Amino acid sequence: MNKTEKKHEVTQNACKLCTPLGACLALKGIKGAITLLHGSQGCSTYIRRYMISHFREPIDIASSNFSEDTAIFGGNSNLKTALTNIIKQYNPEVIGIPTTCLSETIGDDVNMIIKEYISENEDENLPEFITVSTPSYKGTHIDGFHETVRSVVSAVSGHPGEKSVNNSRINIFPGMVSAEDIRHLKEIISDFGLDYIMLPDYSETLDGQLWTDYKNIPEGGTSIDKIREMDSSAASVEFGKSLDGTESASRILSERSAVNTFNTGLPIGINETDKFMNILSEISGRGIPEKYLSERGRLIDAYADAHKYIFGVKAALYGEEDLVIGLASFLSEIGIIPVLCASGGNSGRFSEILFKAVPDLSPDETSVYSDADFSDIEEQIKFLKPDLIIGNSKGYSISRSTDIPLIRTGFPIHDRIGGQRILHLGYRGAQQLFDKAVNSVIEKRQDSSPVGYSYM
Ligand code: SF4
Repeated sequence: MNKTEKKHEVTQNACKLCTPLGACLALKGIKGAITLLHGSQGCSTYIRRYMISHFREPIDIASSNFSEDTAIFGGNSNLKTALTNIIKQYNPEVIGIPTTCLSETIGDDVNMIIKEYISENEDENLPEFITVSTPSYKGTHIDGFHETVRSVVSAVSGHPGEKSVNNSRINIFPGMVSAEDIRHLKEIISDFGLDYIMLPDYSETLDGQLWTDYKNIPEGGTSIDKIREMDSSAASVEFGKSLDGTESASRILSERSAVNTFNTGLPIGINETDKFMNILSEISGRGIPEKYLSERGRLIDAYADAHKYIFGVKAALYGEEDLVIGLASFLSEIGIIPVLCASGGNSGRFSEILFKAVPDLSPDETSVYSDADFSDIEEQIKFLKPDLIIGNSKGYSISRSTDIPLIRTGFPIHDRIGGQRILHLGYRGAQQLFDKAVNSVIEKRQDSSPVGYSYM
């Protein structure tokens, strides 16, 4: 069975988050940046609440604070007042300004307001302004995330022909991965002897150390000066097959400055990590470092050791399209059948990309849902009866009601500590996901066994 259409006219418990939330997350990966949401106070409160409960870090998101008057006459004056207050209070290097449903609906021209603000304050030392259009009735958090990265690259980088190419540096667009994933990517790239510009990099801003003194803006992130250098890197590596062929940030760079682009899937599992390692090998001219060959070898050994416990096990997956595709690729190489692949996203290409990226999957065995909500997902899980559910915390109530273990991945993880430190990528990430998957199956069998065995 392969379904791609929704059954319900009305979304019931969406399997997606608000579009500016993705923008706020991406902006946390830029050094010295503060986000100003152009809209009502509630939008920034909701997004802060969501991000804080996953990352467990203080998160400031300003708002232009729409009221009834602003909703009718426009938010020009509120936005300018907010900019002045933020500059005074935070002294940021960058102000990112995503829009919200309300400001998009009334049609505020944010770019024009910013131009006016700059000309009215030309004697001031102003920060960089990044505007991004993120109406939440169009797209999901992942669209807001990618749109922001695109906007940053469009606004900041690009002086083609002015610089010589740095052959030992790459640009990396990791997509919406965990803070731990970003740290691991940096380690891998450095081990190939390459320098990098990561966009975004929220590995420190959203998973930092304990402060003794309050900081207005947490340390970390990629600086605007670095982003300006992206057009002279040797190549760009962009994760996410859903971005291939689209006007993505790396495509913008390659069109503007001829930086060669490698688009590849999220490196989850051996197959996709091999592809990433080979790309780094090609760019750096070096072989895969021994450290990663050892990790790969141990992972294959673990696959062999646990094969008898998980072969033929069925799993239901949900999340952003690229995360689900990466997880499905990993599961199919370890013998778990992804019987349900669901996403709240609706690129129109999910099913096509999934079956192309994971040729071992068959539409007869795997149901695919785009634009899914948790009502669709619950219905399918009750019908398909998988042994495992893999996704974010929002699937917990389905896991509880069906008594099927939930392996938490992606964002948001609201009911556990350490969501920001879940490692999904590389051989090391696959090892951790693999151990979790196998042990969840073993634990479920052990707990439901009438015999209290302690050895297997
Ligand atoms: S109104 Fe729109 S932008 Fe604001 S929180 Fe709701 S979905 Fe997000």
